[in-house]
Amino acid sequence: MTWQARYRTKIRQHARVGCRCYGCGGIPTDSDHLFIIRGMGGHDEPELQEDWNIAHLCNACNVARREETAVRAALDKLWRYGPEYIEAKVAALPRKVRPALPKHYFKALELYHQGKKPWRDF
Ligand SMILES: [Zn+2]
Repeated sequence: MTWQARYRTKIRQHARVGCRCYGCGGIPTDSDHLFIIRGMGGHDEPELQEDWNIAHLCNACNVARREETAVRAALDKLWRYGPEYIEAKVAALPRKVRPALPKHYFKALELYHQGKKPWRDF
């Protein structure tokens, strides 16, 4: 499949599920690991490809790597899955994956405990 065809397929997939870029609200074209990047040695564990760990972003927001974008994505995952689920997922990762949650997770967790919703409040 050519690069362009793959890109178009991805845009269609995202449009179908109705998700939007966590940074700008636009059409997402990229998928980024949100909490846990990948295993040491560059292994990408299948667990890390699951929805709780994947943020859909447009390319500009993916490249910009703004903390606000990551916090909004994390907040959305917290409302969707709950902190217990996410933390249990991270704790159960294979040992070669560093099981540490990033700063944007804890910022989002604080907002979650305050009842703040992604897009509406942050
Ligand atoms: Zn964007």
